[in-house]
Amino acid sequence: MKSIKNELLNGKILLSDGGWGTYLYAKGLQMGDCPELWNETHRSDVLEIAKTYIDAGADMIETNSFGGSKIKLAQYNLEDRTYELNKLAAEVSREAAGDSKLVIGSVGPTGKFLMTGEVTEEELYESFKIQIEGLRDGGVDAICIETFYDTQEAVIAVNAAKENTDIEVITTFTFDKAVDGSYNTMMGVKPAEMAETIADAGVDIFGTNCGNGFEGMIEIVKEIRKTNSDLPILVHANAGLPIEEGGKIIYPDSPERMAELTPQLIEAGANIIGGCCGTSPEHIRAIRAVIDKINL
Ligand SMILES: [Zn+2]
Repeated sequence: MKSIKNELLNGKILLSDGGWGTYLYAKGLQMGDCPELWNETHRSDVLEIAKTYIDAGADMIETNSFGGSKIKLAQYNLEDRTYELNKLAAEVSREAAGDSKLVIGSVGPTGKFLMTGEVTEEELYESFKIQIEGLRDGGVDAICIETFYDTQEAVIAVNAAKENTDIEVITTFTFDKAVDGSYNTMMGVKPAEMAETIADAGVDIFGTNCGNGFEGMIEIVKEIRKTNSDLPILVHANAGLPIEEGGKIIYPDSPERMAELTPQLIEAGANIIGGCCGTSPEHIRAIRAVIDKINL
């Protein structure tokens, strides 16, 4: 088992992968389908996505398990298969990554809110625990708790990872820019507040994903860096802010644009860089070229 923190020693910058959701839809996933079931029914398609990102130069790839919590899978009546589908997700990405590249197990929020009482802390913990055990047994190098907005739910997921695995834990939140220019999650959590709470919970790496292109991420990373913690920062950025064009959602930032902004993101304090919605293997390849020059 490799340590991401060790790989980052001496200021080395690591490259993560690009978006999975849009890629799965491009391969034929339909609205209303369960993406995690594809680890079984469309294994070769999932493997191809993972391999394409490795071929593009990623040092680490995610797993097709973002919606793999027991609570999310219950929407498809697949809650009894939570462990199994997550284990499959990890095995597919591990096959693509081999022994030389890292696999980070994706864990997304459940979509249920503690605040409104629709779910209890115990239910959340159990839901994440089974998912994380599947990812662990499928061979991931780290758990990546991502796209979170509520610190309470995130801390429960972090605890489920720390108490049931020996591997590193990454946690990233999604922020939107408010009219006053500040960044907040949909629950009103600011980047510095996230960073402090999540560092206290004992994560190894924290950061931000989705919701912004590199421009917004540069500002968010600066805010995280203002806190006391010196943990490594991971950024999975969208290819810019989505715009609607002829009834279709377009992500405007080209691979060249993301490559151009990469040095500023590193300057702000990012240690691991990758993509989220709208990013493709071409984006990852373009960022690879920039990172290679910086790592020299
Ligand atoms: Zn995204």
